[in-house]
Amino acid sequence: MDLRLYDTSSRDKRSFKPLDPKNVRMYVCGPTLYDFAHIGNARPVIVFDVLFRLLRHVYGAEHVTYVRNITDVDDKINDRAARDFPGLPLNEAIRKVTEITERQYHEDVDALGCLRPTVEPRATEHIAEMRAIIEKLVAGGFAYVAEDHVLFSPQAMNAANTVLPRYGSLSNRSLDEMIAGARVDVAPYKRDATDFVLWKPSKPGEPSWPSPAGIKAEGRPGWHIECSAMSWKHLGEEFDIHGGGIDLVFPHHENEMAQSCCAFHEGRMANVWMHNGFLQVEGEKMSKSLGNFITIRELLADWPGEVLRLNMLKTHYRSPIDWTLKSVEESARTLDDWYRFAGDVPAGTPSDTVIEALADDLNTPQMIAALHGLRSGTGRDAFAASLRLLGFLGESNQQWESRKRSASGIDVAKIEALIAERTAARARKDFKDSDRIRDELAAMGIAIKDSKDGTTWEVAR
Ligand code: AMP
Ligand code: ZN
Repeated sequence: MDLRLYDTSSRDKRSFKPLDPKNVRMYVCGPTLYDFAHIGNARPVIVFDVLFRLLRHVYGAEHVTYVRNITDVDDKINDRAARDFPGLPLNEAIRKVTEITERQYHEDVDALGCLRPTVEPRATEHIAEMRAIIEKLVAGGFAYVAEDHVLFSPQAMNAANTVLPRYGSLSNRSLDEMIAGARVDVAPYKRDATDFVLWKPSKPGEPSWPSPAGIKAEGRPGWHIECSAMSWKHLGEEFDIHGGGIDLVFPHHENEMAQSCCAFHEGRMANVWMHNGFLQVEGEKMSKSLGNFITIRELLADWPGEVLRLNMLKTHYRSPIDWTLKSVEESARTLDDWYRFAGDVPAGTPSDTVIEALADDLNTPQMIAALHGLRSGTGRDAFAASLRLLGFLGESNQQWESRKRSASGIDVAKIEALIAERTAARARKDFKDSDRIRDELAAMGIAIKDSKDGTTWEVAR
């Protein structure tokens, strides 16, 4: 099978060849832990979970390492900690905030049918690796110390003229244009406006660690260096796939790539860079001020996680997605039908049409079309196996139905008694009585469907 992936860096779709097929390595930038994750944050989680599952299918589950980090050092976390736990020392309060939000995050993404990554490293547990990379960058002339900060110099990188990639090549920007367009109010300790922070001094009371590069005052890392350190520790100097949302291409990934390539004298950090498009809600950018900010948790109160997962995959990962109630309702109807058709079918082999669609740069709309094709055929085994591979059918048909029923607060026993009564009426060809019962159920908001296998029901939407 030819797996083809679109690479942001080369701007084309290429055949994927792992550096080591016995250990295919993927890094995805994870959440900053200070609050419930929103439905936009769920997009990279679901998209890269599908890729993880596909890679496991192709190379074997034990031959894929997926690392998704947890950022636990950040100003937003500090603010939240001071607000929620004013009586505690800041460091303890921060630990509480990150523990609570990490638990919430796991509950949410588990419910979306996502596998846990192989490793979920925390930034604060990789300070030694960050210091080591910073030392290498200073020694190599790519970074310098000023006023207790360590700064990376993109101009030094581009002047080096070695195997290194050009700074700006990932995001397709020119450093000269960035210099020309730089704001005038640049921090005084920067030699050039485009220099970025690797390490900075901590304010009193903030988390702090011994600094690298001979700086006496304690400090804390910049954001980009975290991912260079964690990917190095868990995947090595060079690995296969690096992912995240499109907003991370610049500056975050451009800077990660610069740091890692300059520290390890490599021409590349990752073989393929993949970025998911942005999610908006009912045609508008999601924001707290517009009042259309939806957390995963809120959606999970109304819908099974698999419905949200299917809804996310209806759009190709590189396109923008418009998240609408109408589309979620449609996804729910589709899954109800799929569960009824195949919820209880035992394991089989996934369909080639589904795998081929995914192998074409995760073409999930085509994959869903392939699933609809299988659904209208007669064989259920390949259909059910394909859905399971993709993280669906995590429940039995009965669990699925009873969850829907209990969620809607309806009298299941009464509905089933009425359906049995109607089946008996139909058996004795008393269609007047059977129609009366159907109307009675409809008045209760219950829709029924007859097939050769019997009568099923659902809550009419
Ligand atoms: P953050 O915690 O904001 O750094 O985001 C975590 C991940 O979610 C990153 O990969 C972001 O690119 C991604 N992300 C954030 N907002 C959205 C959105 N509205 N649509 C798609 N991805 C998003
Ligand atoms: Zn990152």
